[in-house]
Amino acid sequence: MPERHIVIVGGGISGLSAAYHLMKRTKQEGIPLRVTLVERENCWGGKIRTVREDGFVVEGGPDTFVTVKPWALELCRELGLWERLLPTNPHARRVFILWRGKLHLLPHGFLTFSPDLKGLFETDLLSWKGKLRVALGILLPKPQWDDDVSVSAFLGYYLGTEMAERVIAPLMAGVYGGDIKQLSARMTLPTLWQIAQLHRNLAWASLVRTLRRKLLRQPSNSQPRSYFMTLKSGLGELVEAILANLREVELVQGREAVQLGWSDESGKLILSLDDGGQIAADALILATPAWSVANLLKPLDANLADELSSIPHTHAITVSLSFDRSQVSHPLNGSGFLVAPEDQKESLLLACTWTSSKFPPRAPQGKVLLRAFVNRWVEMEDGELVSAIVETLRPLLGIKGKPERSWVFRWESAMPQYTVGHAKKVARINERLKGLSRVFLAGNYLTGIGVPDCIRSGREAAEKAMRAILRRNPL
Ligand SMILES: Cc1cc2nc3c(=O)[nH]c(=O)nc-3n(C[C@H](O)[C@H](O)[C@H](O)COP(=O)(O)OP(=O)(O)OC[C@H]3O[C@@H](n4cnc5c(N)ncnc54)[C@H](O)[C@@H]3O)c2cc1C
Repeated sequence: MPERHIVIVGGGISGLSAAYHLMKRTKQEGIPLRVTLVERENCWGGKIRTVREDGFVVEGGPDTFVTVKPWALELCRELGLWERLLPTNPHARRVFILWRGKLHLLPHGFLTFSPDLKGLFETDLLSWKGKLRVALGILLPKPQWDDDVSVSAFLGYYLGTEMAERVIAPLMAGVYGGDIKQLSARMTLPTLWQIAQLHRNLAWASLVRTLRRKLLRQPSNSQPRSYFMTLKSGLGELVEAILANLREVELVQGREAVQLGWSDESGKLILSLDDGGQIAADALILATPAWSVANLLKPLDANLADELSSIPHTHAITVSLSFDRSQVSHPLNGSGFLVAPEDQKESLLLACTWTSSKFPPRAPQGKVLLRAFVNRWVEMEDGELVSAIVETLRPLLGIKGKPERSWVFRWESAMPQYTVGHAKKVARINERLKGLSRVFLAGNYLTGIGVPDCIRSGREAAEKAMRAILRRNPL
């Protein structure tokens, strides 16, 4: 029986999920499969980076995942991590917006884009004119839009400029690290986009939907109720649990894939590594960032590589800080705050998570753990950056003295931007990919940036790769 070899490049959550799925299917169906996973760094997990230190659990990248997209929860269940799941603290679900130097409470419904009339009338984030403009949204006719528009044009039409700039912009920046004038409404707000296509008026249809859901809501025992979840010792637990299931996978760490080609003789794909080594594969899953995939595919299809490298990315820096509780006078009665674009001009801050409130087990008793997101790429030394962030937070949270500890994580070109027209770009990528049979893509730049979507994309790529080699070489 010929050996079938699938090689995965990229040991982030997309690549790990692909490897896990292949091993699962191999065992389930008795398919003799060899799997190799190649990772450039000397650690696994990619953007998932958990540091555990003297009772602190510090996340350098993602700290949570949404539960409405089921793939992360499903994987946790399969891996026996169900009991390890940690919901956000129900007493700290409030979110604030920093606008004009003050923290303003974000009405609950605004966070999930479900209209909250009481919150709308009470909030001091919008003027009366702004509130009236939101209310008038339900009367507007269906606009004539092309295939896609920016989030700013889409929600600005229904909700007005104040709501777009003071609420939507910081919320979207918190997820994508991007600008609502550039981000695609169709890709980043797919549910709202669909509602807007199906109904005469998005605002009215959303209102009816929310009211109906509130009336019919029944508690479920099998599904956790928190909108966000994490794992007790950090998302690194997920990476560790996957790795424990990859004992039969050949793990190649600290090696960068630098070139891709075909062997005319064997018909196999040949992956060259930076140490001069080569790996022959029957199918290949590229689970690296778009720009890295573009470099590898350039010799095989320059147009495909151009499409991939045209996906813009923004950088991300997170700064985690710990203080003694006595050093911080703010009650920290929420999960943190997002910064309105107007206020970002004068500071480095994009958002700040009150980690020890959002997830109390993340810091020892009597300590505060905060995590700041920096709003641009800065070349400052870590110490200088920490001081700048502390000085910004000091008046807002009533901080005394210096942080007891700090952790800085820098992620260059980390956040793919789903700009207007992204869906068509992905369709073109998929079309061109058909010409490279047995090369498959997984990752955060395709159809979902968050951890659950990456897990799904890894699983889908694994399934396609397996089907492709079975078609070519049936059992
Ligand atoms: C600061 C930050 C906070 C975030 N917060 C959240 C959150 O709270 N919730 C959420 O759901 N999502 C969050 N995200 C997004 C999410 O973390 C990422 O989209 C996701 O982890 C990406 O996974 P990936 O496997 O596709 O890519 P990556 O994690 O980037 O993994 C790709 C891997 O490929 C390797 N690689 C690259 N090139 C090569 C090569 N040529 N050869 C070999 N290996 C290579 C890299 O070293 C890397 O390990 C956050 C992201 C950041 C940066």
